[in-house]
Amino acid sequence: MKTAILGGGLAGVTLARLLSKQGEDVLVLEQDSRIGGLCKSITTDGFTFDIGGSHIIFSRDQEVLSFMHQVLEENRGERKRDTKVFFKNRYIKYPFENGLYELPKEDCFVCLNEFIKTRIALEKGELKDPKNFKEWIYHTFGKGIAEAYLVPYNEKIWNYPLDQISAHWVEGRVPRPPVEDIIKAAVGIETEGYAHQSVFSYPVEGGIEALIEAIARPVSNQIRTGYKVSTIHKNGDQWEISNGTETIRADRLISTLPLQSLQLCLTDLPEEVRTAISDLKYNSIVCVGIGLNGQTLPFSWMYLPEKEGTAANRISFPSNFSTEVAPNGCSSILAEITYNAGDKTDQMSNAEVVRDTISALGDAGILDPEKVRTALAVRHQFAYVVYDLAWQQNMKIIRDYFSSAEISLVGRFSQFEYLNMDGVIRSVLDFVGRS
Ligand SMILES: Cc1cc2nc3c(=O)[nH]c(=O)nc-3n(C[C@H](O)[C@H](O)[C@H](O)COP(=O)(O)OP(=O)(O)OC[C@H]3O[C@@H](n4cnc5c(N)ncnc54)[C@H](O)[C@@H]3O)c2cc1C
Repeated sequence: MKTAILGGGLAGVTLARLLSKQGEDVLVLEQDSRIGGLCKSITTDGFTFDIGGSHIIFSRDQEVLSFMHQVLEENRGERKRDTKVFFKNRYIKYPFENGLYELPKEDCFVCLNEFIKTRIALEKGELKDPKNFKEWIYHTFGKGIAEAYLVPYNEKIWNYPLDQISAHWVEGRVPRPPVEDIIKAAVGIETEGYAHQSVFSYPVEGGIEALIEAIARPVSNQIRTGYKVSTIHKNGDQWEISNGTETIRADRLISTLPLQSLQLCLTDLPEEVRTAISDLKYNSIVCVGIGLNGQTLPFSWMYLPEKEGTAANRISFPSNFSTEVAPNGCSSILAEITYNAGDKTDQMSNAEVVRDTISALGDAGILDPEKVRTALAVRHQFAYVVYDLAWQQNMKIIRDYFSSAEISLVGRFSQFEYLNMDGVIRSVLDFVGRS
């Protein structure tokens, strides 16, 4: 039996490796000239940047974490997280609620007081279940932390009204702190939130793409790059997959493509399914890599919730993940800006985005524009799934259809879920286990 795997990102290459290990004849079809999808890295002027956004390796799932560690072998470094939130020109320890002692005293008081008032209201049953993500933030953290950090930051990253985002996906992703941690943080006792991520791994060489290459190595001759799938038909028991000039036949079809890309390949989709896919919300990203002469801040990454200044919601410091990703005596920053079709960032050229980012980070005192040695910007259409209020209803229609059509959906934009690399590998392991 021959299995076609559409898409050569993390999901596609991991599926190929594990199915092939089970003796299956697989072929990965990837549109780009290189595998990796969101996990691609570029090296320019001696700087390596992860162009789908800053990626670190971490997981609560020990089986998945061991898999990632094992494939990287010696090419794995470990770092302790030192992450900040940039607030009123201060570097506040992340998660924000664990860094309250670093806030101006008045802000610290407001955050603690509002948190306690919210807890009391919850205990008394005065708060109804949150109807959306915005309410969830206020009910979990109180008005102080919500309005100083979580609301503006989330508005920036999602680029979508928070009261139109569902709350069902949040648990386990937005850290929910123990009460005593917040009180300790406010009085200045050190605590560590989101502990499973406090130590992370990163490839020593090659950026995050090295992980993809390591996974793909045993199946490299079963991966076809430069093959953009444009049509998919079922002919009897066989799938016919074409890029417009060549047709490939397979007995089984697994798609890791974004649903929006898959639907373009299927001419006979029922209208209800087409409408459900068109109604799904996502955002895009432009990543700005900046190579600097000299050293940068000593942090892992930093969240930028404030609307004034840079449009970036986060910057990371890749040269603090591995010294091999910048030339000697140099350092690097990677800024992430999310956007949607038609908005200001969408209408800017990459050169304008680079110029604005450097200038805003310069004004904030985060970098010295005189020290910029190289800079680039790369866009990805599909960055984050946005769980709008219609997501569950739309996904039921979509899943039911693809299950009956015998097209398996695996991967971040194929399952249309907020899956990090560990979530993607977990989905692949579960899928292969059922195969
Ligand atoms: C800003 C950002 C930061 C992140 N940071 C982390 C992190 O720190 N840690 C972590 O664990 N995860 C992180 N992630 C998540 C991680 O990037 C994803 O979980 C993972 O890359 C998804 O892999 P995938 O294969 O499902 O999707 P993709 O990487 O999107 O792969 C899909 C593939 O399909 C191909 N394709 C599309 N259309 C066609 C077509 N018509 N024909 C053929 N091929 C096609 C694409 O070119 C692509 O290669 C981050 C994501 C983002 C956006």
